[in-house]
Amino acid sequence: MSFNRPDQLLKLQESFDICIIGGGATGAGVALDATLRGYKVLLIEKGDFASQTSSKSTKLVHGGVRYLEQAVRNLDWHQFKMVYKALHERKTLLKNAPHLAHPLGLLTPCYTRWERWYYRVGMWLYDKISGSTNLKPSRGLSKNEIQAEFPSIESHHLRGGVLYYDGQLNDARYALAILKEAERLGACILNYARLDSFELGHKSLKIKKVIFSDLCSGVSYTIPIKAVVNATGPFTDSVRVLANPRLKPRMKVSRGAHIVLPAEFWTGETALLIPKTDDGRVIFVIPWRGSVLVGTTDDPDTLSENPIILEAEREYLISYFNRYSAKKASLGDISATFVGQRPLLQVQLDSAMNTDTKSLVRDHEVEVDGRSKLVSIMGGKWTTYRVMASDTLNELEKEVLRVPVSPCLTEDHSLEPANAVSLPSGVPEDIAAHLTELYGPAAGEVYANGAERLLVGAPYLVGELDYLKKEEMAVTWDDVLARRWGISLRNEALAEKLQAIKKEAFAS
Ligand SMILES: Cc1cc2nc3c(=O)[nH]c(=O)nc-3n(C[C@H](O)[C@H](O)[C@H](O)COP(=O)(O)OP(=O)(O)OC[C@H]3O[C@@H](n4cnc5c(N)ncnc54)[C@H](O)[C@@H]3O)c2cc1C
Repeated sequence: MSFNRPDQLLKLQESFDICIIGGGATGAGVALDATLRGYKVLLIEKGDFASQTSSKSTKLVHGGVRYLEQAVRNLDWHQFKMVYKALHERKTLLKNAPHLAHPLGLLTPCYTRWERWYYRVGMWLYDKISGSTNLKPSRGLSKNEIQAEFPSIESHHLRGGVLYYDGQLNDARYALAILKEAERLGACILNYARLDSFELGHKSLKIKKVIFSDLCSGVSYTIPIKAVVNATGPFTDSVRVLANPRLKPRMKVSRGAHIVLPAEFWTGETALLIPKTDDGRVIFVIPWRGSVLVGTTDDPDTLSENPIILEAEREYLISYFNRYSAKKASLGDISATFVGQRPLLQVQLDSAMNTDTKSLVRDHEVEVDGRSKLVSIMGGKWTTYRVMASDTLNELEKEVLRVPVSPCLTEDHSLEPANAVSLPSGVPEDIAAHLTELYGPAAGEVYANGAERLLVGAPYLVGELDYLKKEEMAVTWDDVLARRWGISLRNEALAEKLQAIKKEAFAS
């Protein structure tokens, strides 16, 4: 069986223990963990995998410098533990898929002596909490050192800075890698499959069957199931009420906008952390796959399938970029934009100011509905997807299946493709870089499908298309451009050119 729709539809004839709703980071993590624990798993995703929040993140694998600051200021032990957990997960995430995640240097500029001291101590603490999982020690830098090493930064008024390390990941492809691995180990994983309703037991009102539609064929499926995990991120409440209409809403969403600029605006491989904007936010300027990512914002929002950037958000982000960058950009230089919606827990909102989503901790909670036995995993962040999955399955085993909790095996489970095929010699440099970055050890296998370029001057190959359909379950051309290649999130003009030569194999 391969990772494509016809093969996965065949698997629907099997019987399943656990159904997971949602194919973002959280659902993917639960699917792999459950499969490794020996369960028969079905995962359904109503759009493409990671098509919502999980492909629209800032792509950092981090403990959260800002959360550490809040933890220390408020003497908040819970928040401190969360940073500790995320910092330790950082290394695991990088280790398990090295072609999709790597360390990233981040420079924090300082404009007073007090700031230099404050951030130096803060980053020292960040290193200490990471302990043996630290990626690289932080270091303080003088103004002269910054000017010599990081010419992209506007050095006017600068007093020095602190360089520290976190990770960066290809979020959409990381989710795909987790799902592919779960499938390889036996799970049935299906995109464009929307949960419509549950069939509940007559007396117990416990979920007995999931009813979902294949959005490609229109066929409806009813599948008997022992347990259901709701991993629908910002959409969590819509699934909770399907299981039990009495449940009160738990989620709020906050929007985070990003703009993308061409690489020439921020050279080098080190990112910039702007630790405090005038309105109390953190903004990053990050070298990202041959472009520069600037973001993000954090404002309360209403739930939407496809949030679009506002003019005010573009202006806000570009004005902060220009304050800190030696090379100034205009709105016309923006090559792409994207907006994600954070799934935030309502209980946290109640305890914070109701409209200020910036002050919230990105922690997670597992809820087991006593009546339907629906298990909802809510909140969290990309970095902790594996811990969230483990917590979810521990609760599911205890509260729903009522079996002893089995060990979580994901920590040392590699997500790299098992059968490595290296690229032949003589492959053009840009194509080799593109294939290696996206497919890692499978680059040679993809290249063997056909080396003809789709577009002169771009590294995308005709032979990739067959692979993306048959081995990565791409259904629409947008699945290819936005998530398998990620080009429409970085360079809308190039994505449009590719759109114009859309291949018949893909739906629009
Ligand atoms: C702007 C922004 C920046 C962020 N940056 C970072 C960062 O740098 N580092 C970090 O660690 N975290 C970051 N996060 C947090 C992280 O991205 C999210 O916590 C994570 O992606 C949430 O994943 P999820 O799977 O829970 O939700 P989603 O990715 O939204 O997945 C839920 C899925 O459920 C599906 N679904 C919904 N209803 C149904 C249904 N009825 N049937 C079937 N499927 C359904 C949806 O289509 C969706 O694909 C950021 C978040 C945002 C918004």
